[in-house]
Amino acid sequence: MKYISTRGQTPATAFDAVLLQGLAPDGGLFVPEVWPQFSAAEIAALEGLPYPELALRVLKPFVGGVIEDSALAGIIDGAYANFSTPEIAPLKKIGDNEWLLELFHGPTLAFKDMALQVLGPLFDHVLKTKGETATIIGATSGDTGSAAIEACRDRDAIEIFMLHPKGRVSDVQRRQMTTVTSDNVHNIAIDGTFDDCQDLVKAMFNDRALRERLKLSAVNSINWARIMAQVVYYFWAGLKLGTPKKHLSFAVPTGNFGNVFAGYEARAMGLPIDQLVIGSNSNDILTRFLETGTMKMTGVEPTISPSMDIQVSSNFERLLFDLVGRDGDIVASFLEGFRKNGKYSINAKALETVQTIFYGARFDDEETMAIIKDVYETSGELIDPHTAVGIAAARAQRRDRSIPMIALATAHPAKFPDAVEAATGVRPELPAHLADLFEREERCDVLPNDLDAVTTFVSERARGGKKP
Ligand SMILES: *Cc1c(COP(=O)(O)O)cnc(C)c1O
Repeated sequence: MKYISTRGQTPATAFDAVLLQGLAPDGGLFVPEVWPQFSAAEIAALEGLPYPELALRVLKPFVGGVIEDSALAGIIDGAYANFSTPEIAPLKKIGDNEWLLELFHGPTLAFKDMALQVLGPLFDHVLKTKGETATIIGATSGDTGSAAIEACRDRDAIEIFMLHPKGRVSDVQRRQMTTVTSDNVHNIAIDGTFDDCQDLVKAMFNDRALRERLKLSAVNSINWARIMAQVVYYFWAGLKLGTPKKHLSFAVPTGNFGNVFAGYEARAMGLPIDQLVIGSNSNDILTRFLETGTMKMTGVEPTISPSMDIQVSSNFERLLFDLVGRDGDIVASFLEGFRKNGKYSINAKALETVQTIFYGARFDDEETMAIIKDVYETSGELIDPHTAVGIAAARAQRRDRSIPMIALATAHPAKFPDAVEAATGVRPELPAHLADLFEREERCDVLPNDLDAVTTFVSERARGGKKP
């Protein structure tokens, strides 16, 4: 199995290089040259496997022999041993053939752990095999930093630096990062905004000499390995509900299009998926695209589902590549137009294709709160605002009640306790493994919004940065 770039200017690349590079050298995103296929009989043979074993079977074709089976199995087993339930991703019935797939039982209580817990050890393994090290650097507005830190903590070949805007992330978010006191984890609070943090990280990546000296890398949402690892829970949920005999539909609260693209991937691999329903909050660029065929940028509006407050869905480029017949030149020209004019449009035929698979619906904060309340009152389940947007979209767009509709629960309700309490009157509690979060020691350095200061700080602590 080799990977090609959505911009068409990168030679076919093996999995280990795809993993370490993240972004393709031509600026595109990596996708498999061909989608691995699972026949109905092969899917049926996966029934009843524990989650880690299922993950091994589903992921093996993507890794393409670059990592030995036994090593891959060890990485996957270790990753899911960090989850607080042996089920890993429990499936609950919440309505009429309506299901909730809980993806928030990892260390940081969000679905990002499902993939990042695999990505961290995969990265470490590939680096060690090559005798290399890497410096992972990222910026977070609060929500995703902890998942990257938990993925990379205590890894021999990785040093991780995470920038967050000082005083602008919630106490729980900050503590989920700063109480990880592993030697290879460096939390940096920047005197500035999230945009300042992002600009600092971008500037460091754009400094080629620095990038090469420190072996800078990222574990951000465009890394192929994250999409790859997310495909497993689509199979998992489907197998619980009678696939391949039964068709399935999924509803996904969507930001960067990573999670729902994994659903598209599962469909491309042979899982009989009927609808993929995209839930948007007020930042509804994707829903508008599905209605009109035009991707058009607008400003970002803050909502109670902050992980979906995005202007551009970076992973959409992977779907676009398929929609234009896998022609990298067309993708490149669309994205050039998008950069210049803030929009691009696909043709009517491509729009028709995308509309046979994807369905979208948008909900503002008030509607989101109403769904949280309704789900609690009718099923007794507390759901977070992101999950609520997905369920709302599922209900709005569902077209066949005989097909199970599986809504992905992307965050634990206790990650967003204020919204959940305001909607239901019940304050969700942190699970046992985080109950003492507010008693734990914190470790964090405060730095000014200054590139030299940050570069010096990172250089002094990164492996490759140390003077011999
Ligand atoms: C990241 C995130 C999302 C959005 O997922 P994408 O893959 O970016 O579409 C939704 N909900 C929660 C809780 C998240 O953390």
